[in-house]
Amino acid sequence: MPLNASTQALLAGLERSRPVLVTGATGYVAGQLIRRLLEEGLTVHAAVRDPGNSERLAALMALADRLPGELHVFASDLLKPGSYAQAMAGCGVVFHTASPFVVSVQDPERDLVRPAVEGTRNVLEEANRQASVERVVLTSSCAAIYSDNADAQDTPRGCFDESVWNTTASLEHQAYSHSKTLAEQAAWQIAERQSRWRLVVINPSLVLGPAISDDTRGESFSLMTQLCDGTLRIGAPDYGMGVVDVRDVAEAHLAAGFLPTANGRHLVAGHSSSFIELGRALRRHAGPQYAIPTRQLPKWLVWLAGPLANKAVTRKVVARNVGHPFVFDNTRSREQLGLIYRPLEATLHDMFDQLEASGRLS
Ligand code: NAP
Repeated sequence: MPLNASTQALLAGLERSRPVLVTGATGYVAGQLIRRLLEEGLTVHAAVRDPGNSERLAALMALADRLPGELHVFASDLLKPGSYAQAMAGCGVVFHTASPFVVSVQDPERDLVRPAVEGTRNVLEEANRQASVERVVLTSSCAAIYSDNADAQDTPRGCFDESVWNTTASLEHQAYSHSKTLAEQAAWQIAERQSRWRLVVINPSLVLGPAISDDTRGESFSLMTQLCDGTLRIGAPDYGMGVVDVRDVAEAHLAAGFLPTANGRHLVAGHSSSFIELGRALRRHAGPQYAIPTRQLPKWLVWLAGPLANKAVTRKVVARNVGHPFVFDNTRSREQLGLIYRPLEATLHDMFDQLEASGRLS
């Protein structure tokens, strides 16, 4: 039961007569959100870059076949102004999830910042033109709150919460976090210049858990695959991170979209964990036949070798994250949205089982 009884009661009467838009509908987070929306009997307008890619859309189509809601697919691109007009026509709620989630890129401005910021502007400016829109739910990130775990020391309460903004990311340091920070700031600026629709923001930590299909892609699955396929067999760092189940993130979006009182930002993270802790928990579940790391790599070794393995893992990133826990307060998501977070083991086990079944670990 990921939403408490009072949120469930409030959502029982949610407005079903108007369609809702989900941008980035082919994504990992969007898939579980669309599943929930279809379960609720809603009509979902799914905005995707390539509606002709039937393979990429197969899982969504299969959901629409077996669930009460309806699915309609539209072509839209974050970088094309006006390209969300058709998809948004008549919608009451817009869930804007589309944004590049890639840690290692060639050109951070071109590959991350531009699509995140221009895309957010394009979607929200379309909401200004569409009279039916009453609410926009933006999938931001904890990355718009902080870059590195060590940043918690400089916050007023010594922990990450919704009052904190990321002031340390740049094109050179944690470029993905920079893109999410600028995109969320652009969203608040647009929202504050009007009064018809309300902006509600979800700021998830690292999202893990099963996808709607075995066609598993994206950074969340690539991290999980690296933990399980032997890439890190010699060990994993004590790199602190917040973790939340993708199904809980979907519930958070649903509550943000339809609870009459929902407003502002919501840090959505269930657990404070680390690479090595995730490895150990997975190993207990998967058994010794998988080369899942249980040994903690010393920080000095990660500092030396990290940048060679992945150019996004700079020495500054290692210094400010390895050995630093993710310290956070998720009270607002529990009290305002009624979220009840799943145990971390359920998230890891279900995701591992899906990866194993997909054959990507053999
Ligand atoms: P994902 O599976 O990679 O999905 C990203 C989606 O964005 C895809 O549908 C992709 O479409 C779309 N997209 C990218 N560039 C686009 C463009 N130029 N025009 C239109 N669509 C574009 O990533 P995800 O993990 O589901 O992430 C979804 C959202 O959650 C993102 O906003 C991300 O920042 C946020 N988030 C994710 C995590 C996490 O751990 N996964 C944590 C916090 C926040 P294509 O299929 O066409 O590429």
